[in-house]
Amino acid sequence: MPVKFIRFGNMFPLEDAKEHPYLIDRDPFKIIDNLYYVGNLWCASHLIDTGEGLVLLDVPCASGYPGLLYNIQKLGFKIDDVKYIVVSHAHTDHYGCVKALVHRTHAKTFLGRVDADDMLNNPERTKRLDLGLGVYNEPFIPDVKLEDGDVIELGNLKMRCVLTPGHTIGVMSHFWDMKHEGKNLHVGIYGGSGYGSLSNEGLKKFGLPANMQEVFLQSIDKVWNEPVDVMLGNHPFHSDEFQKHKRSLTEKNNPFIDPSEWHRFLNELRTGFKEFLKYTPDQMRELFAESHLMEYYGDEI
Ligand SMILES: [Zn+2]
Repeated sequence: MPVKFIRFGNMFPLEDAKEHPYLIDRDPFKIIDNLYYVGNLWCASHLIDTGEGLVLLDVPCASGYPGLLYNIQKLGFKIDDVKYIVVSHAHTDHYGCVKALVHRTHAKTFLGRVDADDMLNNPERTKRLDLGLGVYNEPFIPDVKLEDGDVIELGNLKMRCVLTPGHTIGVMSHFWDMKHEGKNLHVGIYGGSGYGSLSNEGLKKFGLPANMQEVFLQSIDKVWNEPVDVMLGNHPFHSDEFQKHKRSLTEKNNPFIDPSEWHRFLNELRTGFKEFLKYTPDQMRELFAESHLMEYYGDEI
């Protein structure tokens, strides 16, 4: 089986990004209304302008900090207006920039309680998952430890947090409503879709509980009925954000509004995971041998 990019499996960045992180920097773009993309080719970061301050949902690895600052400002926003940073789960590719940003902005930070406690109690696990993309990928203690069902409010934003463990033991997924041309749109982001560390071997290597494979599938069922109109990913390839942005430049309808995508995505996640669990050791090795990220993007992005 020739290995290709599998967006929930071998989703790590190209080796060159360790030495030259700017290679994965790209310009920011508007998704819809008050929602923007400010991340890079590998790590998503979404900015919401609530009218009473900016909310960042996930921030890249520490090495992506200059690119993140550039992107926020390029859209015309002020770094100092970042009031909240919400982190989906305790992996450095989603919180690497937190401490550096908080140092300058004093933004309030949010992370699920389960992951926050785990990050503090098991620093060596966090270290093992750090791909070496930035020297200050250091753990942080969030100002708010989120529980299942908590709602984060700022300005016009009411973001609901749903505990969806599997990728880590405390992943939080997020949902909120926005008004668009007089209509209500439901925005959703699945907090942790990678299953690369959930093989039997991976569970042992990363010290994850034995029932995590089952829990991963249960979390997919838990959010199945969310009526998501605009789906985001915390890696841009989980919802093809760069491709959609490109299409948005020529298409009449906004490609980010796609009520059928949520179920397509969850089905692919469920099927892909079940396939992955059947891989032989050789197939596993081949899957993780090298990055295929740039093949996914091709020459266009
Ligand atoms: Zn992760």
